This record gives sequence, C-alpha cells and structure tokens, in this order.
Amino acid sequence: MVAEIIINRTAKKLNRTFDYEIPSELEGLIFVGSKVLVPFGKGEKLEEAFVVGLKEKTNYSNEIKKIAKLEEQLKDEQISLAKWMAKRYFCNVSDCIKLMLTPGTRTKNKEKRIQDKTISSVMLGKDKQEIELAIETGKIKTDKQKKVISFVKNNEGVTIPEIELCTNTSRAIVNTLIKNGYLKVVEQTIKRNPLQLKNENDIQKIEKTKKLTLTEEQQNAYQKIEQKMKQNVYQSFLLYGVTGSGKTEIYLQIIEKALKQEKTAILLVPEISLTPQMLDRFIARFGKEEIAVLHSKLSMGERHDEWERIREGRAKILIGARSAIFAPMEKMGIIIIDEEHDSSYQSESNPKYDTKEVAKKIAKQNNCPLVLGSATPDMETYYLATEEGKNKEGIEQSKTQEIEILKLTKRANQSSMPSVQVVDLKQELVNGNRSMLSMALYTAIETNLKEKRQTILFLNRRGYSTFIMCRNCGYTVNCKNCNISMTYHSYEKKLKCHYCGQEEKVVTICPVCQSDKIRYFGTGTQKLEQEIHKQFPQAKTIRMDIDTVTKKNSHEQILNQFKNENIDILIGTQMVVKGHHFPNVTLVGVIAADSSLNMDDYQANERTFQILTQVAGRAGRENLQGKVIIQTYNPENFTIQCAKQQNYEKFYETEIALRKQLKYPPFCDIIMVNFNSSSENEIQKISNWVYQSLKSKLKEETFRIFKPMPAPIDKIQNRYRWRIVIKGNMTQEANEIFHQCLKEFYHKNVKTTRMTIDVQGLGERI
Ligand code: ADP
Ligand code: ZN
Ligand code: ZN
Repeated sequence: MVAEIIINRTAKKLNRTFDYEIPSELEGLIFVGSKVLVPFGKGEKLEEAFVVGLKEKTNYSNEIKKIAKLEEQLKDEQISLAKWMAKRYFCNVSDCIKLMLTPGTRTKNKEKRIQDKTISSVMLGKDKQEIELAIETGKIKTDKQKKVISFVKNNEGVTIPEIELCTNTSRAIVNTLIKNGYLKVVEQTIKRNPLQLKNENDIQKIEKTKKLTLTEEQQNAYQKIEQKMKQNVYQSFLLYGVTGSGKTEIYLQIIEKALKQEKTAILLVPEISLTPQMLDRFIARFGKEEIAVLHSKLSMGERHDEWERIREGRAKILIGARSAIFAPMEKMGIIIIDEEHDSSYQSESNPKYDTKEVAKKIAKQNNCPLVLGSATPDMETYYLATEEGKNKEGIEQSKTQEIEILKLTKRANQSSMPSVQVVDLKQELVNGNRSMLSMALYTAIETNLKEKRQTILFLNRRGYSTFIMCRNCGYTVNCKNCNISMTYHSYEKKLKCHYCGQEEKVVTICPVCQSDKIRYFGTGTQKLEQEIHKQFPQAKTIRMDIDTVTKKNSHEQILNQFKNENIDILIGTQMVVKGHHFPNVTLVGVIAADSSLNMDDYQANERTFQILTQVAGRAGRENLQGKVIIQTYNPENFTIQCAKQQNYEKFYETEIALRKQLKYPPFCDIIMVNFNSSSENEIQKISNWVYQSLKSKLKEETFRIFKPMPAPIDKIQNRYRWRIVIKGNMTQEANEIFHQCLKEFYHKNVKTTRMTIDVQGLGERI
C-alpha cells in the first residue's frame, strides 16, 4: 500500500501530496488522518507529515521512500474538514490539521510539557513524634538543622531552593537531613488549574443550582433544539433574544439533556467573556469534574491535559474560545456558539477560518444541532434565517433552509431595560461647551458620584485612521461609490476610500452648512481620563485600553479592581463592553458614537449597533434602574435611533436594504487579495501582475475588481502592505481561479512579497 502524505510545514510550495510506501510493520495501522514521521529532502531528515489518502500503487516510476514512524491518529472526518478549510480559506492543509492535534505533542514541545508538570518538593521523612524525639535526644543537633526542620514542618511541599532562601542555610544541611531520613524529596505533580484564578476552595463554595422552570418562550426554543438532538439530525438555530432573556439558562438545560442522552456538548464564547464569573454558572449546575475549559491563557501543559480529558471522555462539556471547536469530542450532541455576532469568531491569523462555518461542518459530520445565540445577531445569520434569505438565488436551497430562528422577546427575570438618552454634541457647541462631556453627562456623573454608584465611560478609539467631521452639522465625507467614510491620510493631506481608492481633497468649509468648524476625529482614552480628573478631582478612575491591558490577566485584574476597590469611573475602549456584570454600575456614557459609525468598513453601522446595545447592557443589571447617555454629532442617524429604542429588527430592515442597494454581504462577497513586502517596488509590480491575471480570468459581468492600492494600515514593521478589493460571488469556479492565481504566484520569481486571500461574505458556496 502507498500513502499520500502532506508535510507539516507552512512553506506554500509544500502544500501538495507526496507518495510514501507503508512498511510491512505498519500495515493496517496507517489510515487517513495518521500523523507520521517520514524521511524528506536531501539529508533524509525525519519530518512530521499527515496521511491524507491511501492507494494501491504510486504513479511514480522511481522507487518511493518508506514511512518511518506512526505518531498520532486523527479521524477521517477531521482530514476532510482540513481539506475543505484549505480550499475555503486559501491556506495549507497542514496548517488546518495542526489545529486538531493534541497541544504539546510536537517533538519540540515535549520537554517543556514535562517540565511544567512536575517539581521536587520536600516533606518530613518521619512522623512528627519521631522528629520531636530526635530533637530531644539530640540526633538533630544544630540550630540550623532545627530551623530547617521547623520550617518544613510548617511548609510541607516546598522546594530545596526555597528552604535555602527562607531559612538562610546551605544545601549541605538540607542534604544531611535527607540522608538521615528526617526529610524526604517527593516528585510532585503540580495540579494544573485551567479554571484560572479559582482555587479549590472557591470552587467548593459555589452553590449548586437547579434548573429553573422555563418561560413559555424559553420552553418553545428548548423543545425545538431538543427534538433535533434526540433525532440525531443536524439543524442550525439562531437563538435571538435580548440580553437577560434567558439564553444561558437554555444552554444549561440543553447541555444537561445532552449528558442524559450520553452525549457531549461544546459551548463557544468570545475569549474575553470566558471569565471565572461566567464559568461559575456552569460549575454551579454541573460540578467541575465534567467540564473542560480551553482558552489562550492556558499553558501548553494545561491545554494538553484538557485535550486528553476530552479525548478520553472524562470531560463531557467543553467551554472554550474559538479554537476549542477543533477538540476531539466524541458523541457530540450539541454545539452552542454564544454571542455569535462577535468578531473574535473570525480568526485573524493563518488559517483565517470562520468559526461558525467550521462549527456548521462539524455539526453536520456529527449529526447534531448547532445553536447560534445573540441579542444582536450577525446580519448574515439573520438574513439566512429570513424568508428572503432562504430563497436566495445562487445558493443551494438545502444550505439556506438550515437556519431556524427562535425568538426570546422578554427579559426572564422581570428586570427592566435601561433608559437611553441621546445627546446632540452640535448643540453643546452652540451652547459654548467645548469639553468632551455634555452637560447631561456631566450632571449624571456628578449625581452618580454623590450616590456612590459606579460609572463606565466608553470611547471607541480608532487606532490608526482619522476621519473629518463638521462640528456644526455632523457632516462627514463619504465615498460616492461605496458609501463608507473616507479616511484622512495626513502626509498626503488627502481623504481616501479604502475600498475603491477614490480620493478627495480635504474640505475646510462644510459643503452642507458652510461652517468652518471642521474637525479631525480620533481622541483617545488618555485624554478623556485627564479631562475627568480636571472636572472631578475627587473621583477615583481606572483606565482599560490596549495600553493598560498588556500583561497576562490584566484585563481581568482591572475589572476586579473596578468591582472591589471603590473605583468610581471605568474608562475604556471596546474591552469594557463585554460580558461583565457589575451590580453597582448605573450609568454608562458613550463619549462619541460617531467614531465607530465612521469606521472605514461596510460593517460600521452593524458594529456600532452591537457595541451600543452591549454597552447599554452594562447599566442597571439588577434592581437599580440603569441610565445610558450616548453623545453624538448625528443624533438622527438610524443606527443610533435604533440603539436608543433597542430595536434590532428595525435596524436590520434598514441596514439590509442598504447592503442590498450597495452590493455588500450577504448580497455579494468581498474578496481581499493582500500583499506584504519589504520592497515597495516589488509589491507594486506583483500586485499589478496579479490584478491583470485576475482580470483576464474572472468574468467581468460577475466580478468588480478594483485596482491595487495601499491597505488601510499601509506599513507594519517595515513591510509595505497593498491589497486588491474584489466584489462578486465566490463560487466553486471562482474559488478555483483564485487558487490557480496563488499557484502561479508561488512559481513566479518573487523575492520578498507574500500574498494571501480573505473572503468576507456568506461563504456558503464551497
Ligand atoms: P441571557 O443569557 O439571555 O443574557 P440569562 O440566561 O443570563 O440571559 O438570564 C438572565 C437572568 O434571568 C439570570 O439571572 C437568570 O438566572 C434569570 N432567568 C433565566 N431564565 C429564567 C427563568 N425561566 N425563570 C426565572 N429566572 C430566569
Ligand atoms: Zn456642516
Ligand atoms: Zn469607494
């Protein structure tokens, strides 16, 4: 027998199969999905490789090499998933397989894994009475020896260096005590703790909860999902329910049911909401033994352990961030993706997969339902669940009939939604208020400080791009072709559209109201903090943004500080809006909604609506009535109005009509062909060559190809970045054309330029 293998390396040229003979001793043990070692290249060095196919004989006339060793076994369906991903996301099959391997088993990492697993700790070598006796009869003589003994007695499990340090003695003294049997060294396994920040005691203290009696709406949703699970059939559900409508309670009960049916469950949450508070609810219902947790802060060893617990079926519930979807769950009964609209489900590094698409594939392979939960569903998900979406042309019917919508319209625990006030910043200017805080927000903060309640101030800072706006009437410059905000490029003093490259001169007089109050937008959190200190010198503040959140865990620390240390005001960027529950926060202020409304992206409105809804959800979570103040230069903007009314459906209707008219997803895919290079000359040449090549291959009637141009961030770490934007439907045929183009690129004599392809849109067609 002959195996077709793929070498586990990122080099694009190696993204193809090679034939290897299966030696007789491995006959019957090698399958599609085996991870093996094979001799490769000149030095016959052993390389990691994956078996992706088997056949009777090779087509090569020369003798082929033999597989050297079998290392790990993946499942057929994982290999077919990896192959599909490589096609869909334009990456190597091996890059996708890597996501599915047990963490920490790559040869390089083995040492490290063992190291962080065991330590040598020192214990008493005899029982306490014997030791007392030894001291009395003077067998343990010197003061130093006594000091060491008494230290270890109180601190069993310490290491030898710790003893030396704390008792100020030498290793020789410790060694003598060990030799004479008064102390002993035990190799101890450090208990890893993936539930981070929680020690055993805290876990013991969590009170068990029982399932609640579901409301009628909840019951209806639950039954629909449960029915599919029982029948072992795939079906996607969009569980659309306002914050507090009891989505999590449904997850808990459906998972409980899965376990009763001897099945397992995966719950994915955005990394940032995977907090101890959030886990508590699951531990309280199921205990911790059956729960596995996977997120990026775990050490390699912890991740390895969790992976093994899942593989062996000891853990039946997996809660994790996006890459947890690749864990080796057996007998999968349900996959749940909470906050399904969250952008963290889109991987930003290679392979750039969309977790929802992958989850759908996996749910189908396992014949189980997939639940997508959100208070502000992704426009595309919602679209596919509507009548129009279901009948959309160009998509196989069977693919769109999949999403069934389940609505929860009421809050489950009778608490009321916060009141939302929109403040017009133009009017503030007219009234002579030039500060970042409107009168209304100033007064509300003042009152809150007096009443000892907490405030969150939210400022959506754009890291790199600025836009310009008329402070008199709120006018901003939008691209005529694309209807997205144009970005100010300071060194050229020009406005540019990041999709089509359209350029405009900077305006100094507003074309709408003729005023000269034109302003460049992009104020930061630091400036806001200074201003707060000036206006409220007595207030204690804490800031959370990219600059303050750098260390491991410090996101969590800042939130804990805010909760526990009498801090009055939390100032922050997007990071403050997710998942947290602060009973004492009654006021949330949005400093300028305009900065996210004017993102240079077709999703600007959608992201703004989501953010405003989530921020509002932070205020008044319990008995206290919450208040939200949104400051903006565009109070009449429909996104802001819909956010004020907390009306998702109205927002959706308006926005989807816009998307349709301007041909944005879900009505069209946006394909980005990205280049980066250390040579400005080469990047221009190559991107032009790719542009010409695509132009000749893609049909003009169905694809709009814009000329190559610098990316929104046009240089990172001395590498230039260019891109080609293409609008059209990524059909099977088009997918092959793009792959063809990539292949040609790899075989061209390119020195420093790299090329990648991203697709935004439905991606349902491949
Ligand atoms: P969501 O996940 O939609 O934000 P949760 O499941 O967290 O909603 O529910 C919000 C609050 O309502 C929680 O405190 C929860 O315990 C409570 N709750 C949920 N379902 C019920 C129910 N059926 N009866 C009473 N309280 C409920
Ligand atoms: Zn104006
Ligand atoms: Zn444009």
